[in-house]
Amino acid sequence: MREIPTNKNCDVEGCSKESKKTVSREKAGAAIKEAGLNLSVKDKVTKAHLCVDHYRKIKKKLKKDREIERLRWS
Ligand SMILES: [Zn+2]
Repeated sequence: MREIPTNKNCDVEGCSKESKKTVSREKAGAAIKEAGLNLSVKDKVTKAHLCVDHYRKIKKKLKKDREIERLRWS
């Protein structure tokens, strides 16, 4: 299957903005859930597409996760 790089919409439920960022579905899903939202992607999907607004919303959480990982492994 070939992925066609067309404009994709944000994968957050109820959001129809154009996606600008791609985040791993696992990380995005957890962060989005923490923000009280849901992703509308299927479980098999590994990447979640987010609009700028939703990406900003979870960016802090993603960063925090990374810091925790760093602490854990240092
Ligand atoms: Zn969105």
